[in-house]
Amino acid sequence: SEKAFVMIKPDGVERGLIGEIVNRFEKKGLKLVRAELKSVDRAVAEAHYGHLRHKPFFEELVEYITSGPVFAMIIEGAGAVQNSRSLIGPTNPAEAPPGTIRGDFGLDVAANVIHGSDSVDNAKVEIERFFSKLDY
Ligand code: ATP
Ligand code: MG
Repeated sequence: SEKAFVMIKPDGVERGLIGEIVNRFEKKGLKLVRAELKSVDRAVAEAHYGHLRHKPFFEELVEYITSGPVFAMIIEGAGAVQNSRSLIGPTNPAEAPPGTIRGDFGLDVAANVIHGSDSVDNAKVEIERFFSKLDY
């Protein structure tokens, strides 16, 4: 069935939110099929955020995502991509409604706790970027 790539960013890991966040995906009915605490190197960060390379905040974004361990996950289930984006909420936590992960746990658009892939095609690319094929 459909897979999404979801990643708790360094601020979320540092603040001890892994359990709380995984719990929300599990309660929704999505399955955690692979997860790993890992560090993101500069090359992976630049590839992951390649669509934002011309933005003024790009350098800050790469520094932030490489600043400490992330918790990378493969989430599986019906509509995994769209359903995980719904649980996560809008990019800017200030605009994310209560009940969403960013709405409940974030304050800052630059450190917004979690990433979720935005399409089924990008989910495939991101899963291959962050996990070895042997892992899933
Ligand atoms: P993500 O890809 O992390 O799930 P998203 O799809 O909601 O987030 P994107 O447009 O892909 O949003 O932006 C990727 C990330 O870049 C955001 O999650 C955020 O951390 C950062 N970002 C986006 N806009 C800004 C901004 N104006 N200032 C600082 N950082 C930003
Ligand atoms: Mg995105």
